[in-house]
This record gives sequence, C-alpha cells and structure tokens, in this order.
Amino acid sequence: MARIVELKHPLVSHHLATLRDKSTPPHLFREQVGRLSLLLAYEATAELPLEPICIETPLATMECLRLGCRIGLVPILRAGLGMSDAIQNLIPQAEVWHLGFYRDESTFQPVEYYQKFSDSPPEVVLIVDPMLATGGSACEGIRRVKEWGVEHISFLCIIAAPEGIEKVSATHPDVGIFTCAIDDHLNEQAYIVPGLGDAGDRIFNTL
Ligand code: URA
Repeated sequence: MARIVELKHPLVSHHLATLRDKSTPPHLFREQVGRLSLLLAYEATAELPLEPICIETPLATMECLRLGCRIGLVPILRAGLGMSDAIQNLIPQAEVWHLGFYRDESTFQPVEYYQKFSDSPPEVVLIVDPMLATGGSACEGIRRVKEWGVEHISFLCIIAAPEGIEKVSATHPDVGIFTCAIDDHLNEQAYIVPGLGDAGDRIFNTL
C-alpha cells in the first residue's frame, strides 16, 4: 500500500480556499499554487539523506549537515510547472526534468508529447502535477521515471481524487503520494469535484 499523506495544517486550508474560489484571478492563483507546493515539498522531503560538511562560522569550525543526494523535480506539463518553479526556490540545487502529457478528451487517456531526461538519473525525484484525477498521467509519469532508473519517487499534487489515489497506489505501491486535499469524486468529464477547475488554464490564464 502506498504512503498517502494529506496535509492537515491551517495554512493549507487557508490557501486552498483561495485557490478553489472561482473568482481568484490567475496571478493570485499562481501564488497560491506556489505556497501550497512549498508546504507539500517540505513534507515530502522530510526523510532526505544528509551528509556532514565542515564549515567555518565567524567564531568557530563546525560540522554541519547538507543534502546528500541529487534531487530531481519532474513537472508534468503544463500545469506542473506552476509547482516546480516554487519548489526550485526551496531546493535551489534541484534539477528540473520535464514530461509532457495531454489528455485525450474522448478517452481521458494521457498522450505523451514531450520527455526530457538526462543520461544519469537523480537519486530522488518529486513528480509534480496539481491535480491527481484519473491517475492516468500520474501512473504513466511514474512508470517513465522508474524506467529512467530512479528508485525514490514521490508524487506531489494539490488536490487528489479518490479514483486517482486508488489507481496510483495500486500500480505503484512504492511511491508516496502527498496532497493538500482528497476531494469527493470525478465528474463525467474526469474533473475533480469540488476541485478548482482546470489548473493549467487557471495558472496560464487560458480559460
Ligand atoms: N485536471 C485539472 O486541471 N482539473 C481537474 O479537475 C482534473 C484534471
């Protein structure tokens, strides 16, 4: 069974309320996606390995700890970009590699249109996509990141549908899912209800 973490924090509830509100303009929507992404990344990186480093403070020599692994962020285009930009500010050394899927509107299946991965994979990857709906692109994205050779993968989303969580955890039980909210259901167009509408359109002002 996959590890499923639904963040329970007053700041998460507060920022989610603004994000979901249909009257929230795109610039504020982007800011809220950024804030919630930072909170998700904070939680999802709690067990990253550390290594010792010797530094000089102005007063003494001191042994400190720093991150001891390569970290990759894989935003699923295009809405994932709204999350990876913010997380890169929190983890400046993170590498950002891209995966692009669009949704076939008749079958709701993911169709790949872009993949940019290096020859040597990072040790840890956070895949980011604001909406975990049917789980189709999440499963496909995870499959490709595993194929790349990454062993430690987490999937970060702002809102998840129970259907998507079930599919990802059944297909990839070794991948942790971190979300700000688990909503009620998917509608017949595979949108999350109550959700927030189309995250990509709201981030990029293409409604
Ligand atoms: N993608 C979105 O942007 N919103 C949904 O509700 C589902 C998938």
